[in-house]
Amino acid sequence: MLIVRRARVPAALLAARPAGTPVDPLEPTVLCDVAIEGTRITAVADTDTGGLGLKPLAREFDAGGSLVFPGFVDAHVHLDKTHTWHRAPNRSGTFAGALQALADDKAHWTEADLHRRAGFALRSAWAHGTRVIRTHVDTSAQWGERSHAVMAELRRQWAGRITLQTVPLCGSGDYLAAEAERLANLALHHGASALGGFLLMSAELPAQLDRLLAIARERGVGVDLHVDESGNPQAECLRLVAEAVLRNRFSLPVVCGHCCSLSVQDHARARSTIELVREARIGVISLPDCNLYLQDRRAATGPFPRTPFWRGLTLVHDLMDAGIPVACASDNVRDAFHAFGDYNLAEVYAQSVRLAHLDARLEESVRVVTRTAADLIGLPDHGRIEPGAAAHLLVLEAHRFSELLSRPSASRLCIEAEEIHRPQVPDFAELNDR
Ligand SMILES: [Zn+2]
Repeated sequence: MLIVRRARVPAALLAARPAGTPVDPLEPTVLCDVAIEGTRITAVADTDTGGLGLKPLAREFDAGGSLVFPGFVDAHVHLDKTHTWHRAPNRSGTFAGALQALADDKAHWTEADLHRRAGFALRSAWAHGTRVIRTHVDTSAQWGERSHAVMAELRRQWAGRITLQTVPLCGSGDYLAAEAERLANLALHHGASALGGFLLMSAELPAQLDRLLAIARERGVGVDLHVDESGNPQAECLRLVAEAVLRNRFSLPVVCGHCCSLSVQDHARARSTIELVREARIGVISLPDCNLYLQDRRAATGPFPRTPFWRGLTLVHDLMDAGIPVACASDNVRDAFHAFGDYNLAEVYAQSVRLAHLDARLEESVRVVTRTAADLIGLPDHGRIEPGAAAHLLVLEAHRFSELLSRPSASRLCIEAEEIHRPQVPDFAELNDR
């Protein structure tokens, strides 16, 4: 047994506290002792009310009042596209430019290339404290077998360290085509956790969604969709997904990523869509860094592009106020959709707080990269610090939220099962030779 003493744990990541227990809204934490046996947390107790007491046979580690988080959960990334920026840059910074750059780059996606880039990403994520990743994988009738096979191999290699989930990414039109069954089978054969797709407004979209939900129901999996990643107020795929879920009485998990256009729609219309999303029990994953990069690119009128003013976020607070679970994740990292990133969820969290003013709801904000993210992808024993949860703890170089949010790149001590270590991020130079 290992006992971690004086761990300053965010209150929203502990099991439910007794009603009326006060938590400081500016520092919503509780000083705790945490016991770990094997791969599980077995006990948590308030240090200030006696803690876990003496355990003669246990090893001890004193966290000294540092902030302690559970391992991060990155619920939406693209490991097949990652780290291709150096050979497939997006010179316009637009969505169309990204599609073209990566379509051309796919000629390089050999097994060795995919393994090398995705493996580097996993090592970076591991060093930053991420313990669960869900990646979307480009999949079509002609494409995807190799990428899914590489991700399945990486899942085996990283088992016990990072839980790696996959979801196929294809056009929603593919689900009306004759290849739909083969596409779903390909992904699920390689262990996919849900079916996915990139949705575009069209007259066929309701029928496409009906077919997708029917296939998902047959296979017993949920769906995880790319939805309304644009500033076009006419883009209402989120509303159509909610209507399809309700029309089909689909009861498996449904997650919608992005949902950017919701924030440029008429407020009454957006409110009614949010109500449908709540009724359909859909979860939302916001990708703030990627939206910041890609949304509101404006055509140059001179030597420089025009200044963006819409920053692409969905209506995070309105969704949360309605009781809809909202997570935040990395999305693309160092590819044509987003030129930057390092799979550092502390940085994604800090950016999300700054961009969405989540400091206004600081206590629950920590759940966007932990508890809520884990719940949305079906892993309710991750992203929290409570008895029965996976024993991944991050001892951060911060005692207060202001410190964490000011220096999210600081290294962190990791506790896995009963072992303590400080992993190092790999050197970008490894990727520079091709
Ligand atoms: Zn994505």
